[in-house]
Amino acid sequence: AEKWFGIVSIFPEMFGPFTQQGVIGRAVKSGVLSVDIFNPRDFTHDRHRTVDDRPYGGGPGMLMMVKPLTDAISAARAAGGENSKVIYLSPQGKKLDQTGVKRLAESDRTILLCGRYEGIDERVIEDQVDEEVSIGDYVLSGGELPAMVLMDAVARLVPGVLGHQASAIEDSFSDGLLDCPHYTRPELLDGKAVPSVLLSGDHEKIRQWRLMQSLGRTWQRRPELLNHLALTEEQQQLLEV
Ligand code: SAM
Repeated sequence: AEKWFGIVSIFPEMFGPFTQQGVIGRAVKSGVLSVDIFNPRDFTHDRHRTVDDRPYGGGPGMLMMVKPLTDAISAARAAGGENSKVIYLSPQGKKLDQTGVKRLAESDRTILLCGRYEGIDERVIEDQVDEEVSIGDYVLSGGELPAMVLMDAVARLVPGVLGHQASAIEDSFSDGLLDCPHYTRPELLDGKAVPSVLLSGDHEKIRQWRLMQSLGRTWQRRPELLNHLALTEEQQQLLEV
């Protein structure tokens, strides 16, 4: 496959619908994308298949038990090859944005560690993890949803994953701007008409209108995005009028 993800998670079932439906489901079926799951529970040897352990120093909550976790990481490395990059999903990581997604899309073998409980032993992070990634400043119960968020965003940039590759280019953030508004049938909805330019058939006019909308929206909703953006001459002119 073009892009391989090795997931280390004690809840492999959570990835079922994600890898079977929609854009990602299609990518997996067509072989562009492949996802293998390594469950620390399969690397336990006790009757209860224990995957949690108590934290030194006491306090509430448990941590992921080290040995099943590191054995699962080793199995993922063996499958992905020595060059695979290991990412730990963590609220303490670098916050993910579309620029980060583009960078992550450059490596084609990525291992995603999904934490549970209060997280994982700091030494495992130091020794095994190349990068920590957060999906936002809030705390979830596990790294599975963040791993799916990361994979979904990365997969959209892999050639062949989207039906229309242009969609990814037009999406919000890909050119640093928010996307323009979209309309589908009917032409008149509860008295509200589709902007007439979209019915004009004039592709150049439509392109300009969309660009203007994108700029306007970004300026209204997310002005800070414009600060770090090198606007094209056309974009600059549109903003000045
Ligand atoms: N005690 C940890 C802390 O404050 O940094 C949080 C542990 S959290 C309850 C359990 C797991 O969920 C983490 O190990 C991590 O894998 C995942 N997680 C929670 N919030 C996340 C976020 N915003 N981004 C990425 N992963 C997150």
